[in-house]
Amino acid sequence: MEKVVTRNFGRKDSHTLDAYLGQKGYEAARKALTTMTPAQVIDEVKKSNLRGLGGAGFPTGMKWSFIPAANPNPKYLVINGDEGEPGTFKDKYIFELDPHALLEGILIACYAIGSHKAYIYIRGEYVKSIARVQAAIDEAYTKGYLGQKIMGTEFYCDIVVHPGAGAYICGEETALLESLEGKKGFPRLKPPFPAVIGLFGCPTVINNVETIANVGPIILNGAEWFSKLGSEKNGGNRLFCLSGHVAKPGVYEVPNGTTLRDLIYVHAGGMRNGKKLKAVIPGGISAPLLTPDQLDVKMDFDSLKAIGSMAGSGGVIVMDETTDMVWTAMIAARFYAHESCGQCSPCREGSGWVYRNIKRIYDGHGTATDLQNLPGIVNNIGGNTICAFGDATTMCISSYVSKFRSEFENRIKKPEYAQTHH
Ligand code: SF4
Repeated sequence: MEKVVTRNFGRKDSHTLDAYLGQKGYEAARKALTTMTPAQVIDEVKKSNLRGLGGAGFPTGMKWSFIPAANPNPKYLVINGDEGEPGTFKDKYIFELDPHALLEGILIACYAIGSHKAYIYIRGEYVKSIARVQAAIDEAYTKGYLGQKIMGTEFYCDIVVHPGAGAYICGEETALLESLEGKKGFPRLKPPFPAVIGLFGCPTVINNVETIANVGPIILNGAEWFSKLGSEKNGGNRLFCLSGHVAKPGVYEVPNGTTLRDLIYVHAGGMRNGKKLKAVIPGGISAPLLTPDQLDVKMDFDSLKAIGSMAGSGGVIVMDETTDMVWTAMIAARFYAHESCGQCSPCREGSGWVYRNIKRIYDGHGTATDLQNLPGIVNNIGGNTICAFGDATTMCISSYVSKFRSEFENRIKKPEYAQTHH
């Protein structure tokens, strides 16, 4: 299998400019800047079927084309590296092992959308990532890959690293913009969309780290090569973060369209200690649970959506037969209650209500009414909030209650179970 984003992982000093230049580094940017028009770059990315790999799966080239060229204001590119979705740890590897691939993708994207300034918003806990990316930026300035007259052309571009301060919601693109502007990370109502009114009120594209790391290879090898690597409408490969009860947890690059079964049993070495699989979260904690009968689903945006879940951030959390699903649901609910930004009442009040409800059941004090009330509470959150966090709470918790209802009922019928099983 041909690797794209992880092609340089494992090479000696892969994070340095010298090592990157030894692997055709910055040749794609040179090709774009010296032989292509911005429109041609956008067209190539459109044809590649590259989709937003942060979770939304929106076609990248189309997103770039929404930037109004005639708008006289500055245009910005913002890289969302606030990787906070539980179970997701792929962008961290790109930051630390191949930061120049990210910078090259940024250069090409900025050229395409007419931007001269990009911000990389990195999760604050990623201390090593922040240092590695900053060091790569410093190197790139020294050698003329950033700043004025890049590679002898008239194009100029600056890149700024901005560490986050620990709020999950700042991974939501408009909350991230607020945070970049120095304000509290409150998601904005959409529309207007960031392509029209984004950072500092100017047209802005927000892309995920993995998405942009694919741009260099697309320009160098062509859209057709990239689109053929993946499945229909899902070009290229994708990074999946396997965690939980698998034999070999880690980050795996596989073609879009690889099945969940192959991901777990071929790439991640199967279940740990030969235990049976019970449930899988396929795309970060917000993605509804899958059960063993759904393992043959293709791990792309459209296939997962078709069976009621989502590809999300690529965080695949595998749970074996020993997992207590009431406990797991309670941990998820606690996360949502803690991370709700508090801007809208259904999410702020509802997430806490859901957590307290499940905790009561988990602790052995729950009643049949608590369980009966849960769907009503979560369904009144989703669809009634400013951002998708409310929908995520609804989808996640609903899937636990609908797929593992008997475990909730057992806790209520036999409270003593709570004292011995967790
Ligand atoms: Fe904040 Fe939740 Fe409303 Fe999103 S849905 S804006 S996280 S309160």
